[in-house]
Amino acid sequence: MQELKLFVVVPCYNEEEVLYETNKRLSEKLDSLISSGAISPLSRILYVNDGSSDGTWNLIQSFHKDDERVWGISLSRNKGHQNALLAGLFCAKEHCDAAISMDADLQDDIDAVDAMVAKYKEGNDIVYGVRNSRKKDSFFKRNTAQLFYRVMKLLGAQIVYNHADYRLMSKRALDALSEYHEYNMFLRGIVPMVGFDSAVVYYERQERFAGKSKYPLKKMLSFAFEGITSLSIRPIRVITSLGAIVLLLSIIMMIYTFARHINGETVSGWSSLIISIWALGGLQIFCIGIIGEYIGKVYLETKARPKYIIKELLDDTRRTQDND
Ligand code: UDP
Ligand code: MG
Repeated sequence: MQELKLFVVVPCYNEEEVLYETNKRLSEKLDSLISSGAISPLSRILYVNDGSSDGTWNLIQSFHKDDERVWGISLSRNKGHQNALLAGLFCAKEHCDAAISMDADLQDDIDAVDAMVAKYKEGNDIVYGVRNSRKKDSFFKRNTAQLFYRVMKLLGAQIVYNHADYRLMSKRALDALSEYHEYNMFLRGIVPMVGFDSAVVYYERQERFAGKSKYPLKKMLSFAFEGITSLSIRPIRVITSLGAIVLLLSIIMMIYTFARHINGETVSGWSSLIISIWALGGLQIFCIGIIGEYIGKVYLETKARPKYIIKELLDDTRRTQDND
């Protein structure tokens, strides 16, 4: 087998406090993998500076100067974790056989890289890093994160439980990912859609080595909301069902008011008023739901997602290569 050119992609937003240590540990990891022959000496670490306002980019520049294996990209402004990650992955895919994405804060256990590489060599195109516990997370983060995964599942998004953005992707999986042209790239949801053989590597999630989380509650909520709305149109279905239920209730109300009307228990005008309120309300919600269905369709169409991704092709070129 040809030597594996591995790129480790690290998005960084104001990470000057932790980056020195991260770079030290990552370089050591690369050294040991290269000397054991697991990866090629052409493997690289690629930092993406996501418009940091501190000394992050200066640090990356100095790492690059000291070590040719360190590469860096600097984005024009802060574009958020997912976009920074994509910038790094799409740059890496032009040069690598596989890329691993990892946070800068050393929360993702670097030693899991070995297992990821091994799984890749067994023929997996995507290897998900999954944390086996959230003991080190705060009570709040643990519970909100779990709620998020549950809601996503309920809404029909295929996401890997307790997997964040620590994963290995082969070049062809990255090529396939680049076929997804949507603006809101919620990677955790899109990557499983890409398909190919995949495997899981478990690791212990560490505490942040230094610095503060760049995901305050507000960002976390908007991330969850983006995730749900970019992957699922099920909330619209809920509205349609709600409309249907209210419409059904209005029939029951109609029978009820009619019965009371016959028994002469009502003030004049009450029956027609109550029935109209229920029936019209139900009809309106139902119609909004139907319109929503069409908007949902338009929404999915505009994403122009690939209809299929070819995994292997057996044709003449392959035959001549094999016969060489
Ligand atoms: N990050 C980024 N851009 C942002 C926010 C975060 O590139 O706008 C990076 C950050 O530097 C880190 C990773 O995304 O490498 C994950 O962020 P963080 O560790 O703060 O999130 P948490 O682990 O607290 O969920
Ligand atoms: Mg973190």
